[in-house]
Amino acid sequence: MSEPVQHNEEFDLVVIGSGPGGYVAALRAAQLGWKVACVEKYPSLGGTCLNVGCIPSKALLESSERYEETIHGLAAHGIRVGEVGFDLELMLKRKADIVKKLTVGIAQLFKKNKVTRFQGMGTIVGANQVAVTQADGVRLELRAKKILITTGSKPIEIPGVKVDKTHIVTSTEALSFSEVPKHLIVIGAGVIGLELGSVWRRLGAKVTVIEATDTILPGMDREIAKLAQKMFVKQGFVFRFQCRVQGAVAMGNEVEVTFTDGDGTQHTLVADKVLVAVGRRAFTEGLGCEQVGVEKDSKGRIVVNSHYETTVPGIFAVGDVIAGPMLAHKASEEGVACVEQMITGYGHVCNEAIPNIVYTSPEVASVGISEEAAKEQGVPYRVGSFPFIANGRAKALNQTDGMVKFVAHAETDRILGCHIVGARAGDLIAEVALAVEFGGSVEDIARSIHAHPTLAEVVKEAALATDGRALHM
Ligand code: FAD
Ligand code: NAD
Repeated sequence: MSEPVQHNEEFDLVVIGSGPGGYVAALRAAQLGWKVACVEKYPSLGGTCLNVGCIPSKALLESSERYEETIHGLAAHGIRVGEVGFDLELMLKRKADIVKKLTVGIAQLFKKNKVTRFQGMGTIVGANQVAVTQADGVRLELRAKKILITTGSKPIEIPGVKVDKTHIVTSTEALSFSEVPKHLIVIGAGVIGLELGSVWRRLGAKVTVIEATDTILPGMDREIAKLAQKMFVKQGFVFRFQCRVQGAVAMGNEVEVTFTDGDGTQHTLVADKVLVAVGRRAFTEGLGCEQVGVEKDSKGRIVVNSHYETTVPGIFAVGDVIAGPMLAHKASEEGVACVEQMITGYGHVCNEAIPNIVYTSPEVASVGISEEAAKEQGVPYRVGSFPFIANGRAKALNQTDGMVKFVAHAETDRILGCHIVGARAGDLIAEVALAVEFGGSVEDIARSIHAHPTLAEVVKEAALATDGRALHM
């Protein structure tokens, strides 16, 4: 390896990784007057979220939903359409164009805010030093008063199922299939399995989901998950619960997947594509944590204190690489709180108020704890729910499936959780997240004026129902 080249400037902050944790932290620190650098190994900024996560998946979800709505949804509105088809190449191009515009947009924001960008693999070589190994092999050394690690996550692989990126794939490849699979097997009924399963099912694939537990979206409120599950089954998803995959072998253009069910009986299924979506793990390879003493927990996540500082003073970490839900908005909020804490002495994230949304149709959204978690934690609670079917706007939209459910503290009425399955659940959860952030009660929501006719009235009615006084049921 050639001799390292010392970069002549010293930065107040060097951020490693340019995902929603890293780029937002870099921008906020620059806004607050710090001299900031951001190191990203890929040529495109924006991390998993913009390049192979949130944004491309939502672009395809939107296109495929419009296609399905045109075929199956418009007749109910009295709209007749002729032959309906789609151009997958154009759909994928539209997705790529959106990604391009947004990632280029971050580069422009960096320029505007004077964040210096370095392309290459970042390695921490000391509490105040980051080495950047560029594609041409040149190793630059940057001096930094503080370092922020935002290196994100990577998909978890399972034993016996070797991802070959052609037949056995991760979400990254499943965002770019050049043909609609005839049969797609998804391993894992979590958020990626349901979102990307929805995309390819809508476009014509048979989708079988093999899940280790007895439910979709384990961890979500059970009543809501069960209701959502029924809707997905109605749409054509086939679920195999309590099943453990033993292996997947690609043979020609097919993959044979072997798994055992809850009774221990072995089964085999054949598909042309297998999507492994069993979760993600913190990514810290090549970062140099061990060399400088940055500790990790048993799951490989970087250990931080309440100010996001690692076990090495001056080195911080936020986003998917630390504990907590792996969500873009969580990463960004932590990034902002972390640098505000460094620079102004104050910065905070309300972990109870982080919304979680599955962008299927209908959407599934939640904030706070589930009824099961309230029970497990021994918190006195009461619940209230309201169905979309009794809402005028839902009827006008012809999207009447679903419900809103509150979990409230039985004595103080404080909102402990809210869970929604139904049209635009992802937008509806925003008011509840805000109420949780303000320490609000269910009565606060029930007494707030909600415009008529809107889907938000379902949220208000569910809040009223928690006090046993829903008006339209
Ligand atoms: P990342 O976005 O993973 O960014 C880390 C960056 O660090 C990467 O660009 C990587 O190249 C870079 N890097 C790593 N190591 C180094 C190094 N040593 N040197 C230089 N650079 C390095 N979340 C949502 O909230 N909503 C969604 O709708 C959503 N949809 C998703 C869909 C899919 C298919 C996937 C996979 C994820 C989705 N997520 C979604 C999750 C979301 O993408 C992550 O939570 C988010 O990107 C985490 O941000 P981050 O900044 O921590 O890490
Ligand atoms: P996940 O944790 O949401 O779901 C994984 C599923 O796989 C779970 O249901 C789990 O029980 C199951 N599973 C685990 N091991 C298994 C095995 N061996 N066989 C069968 N099933 C098994 O993970 P994901 O869907 O891969 O998503 C990864 C992360 O990305 C999530 O943490 C999520 O936060 C994030 N993400 C978020 C969004 C969003 O916010 N809309 C979208 C996509 C991804």
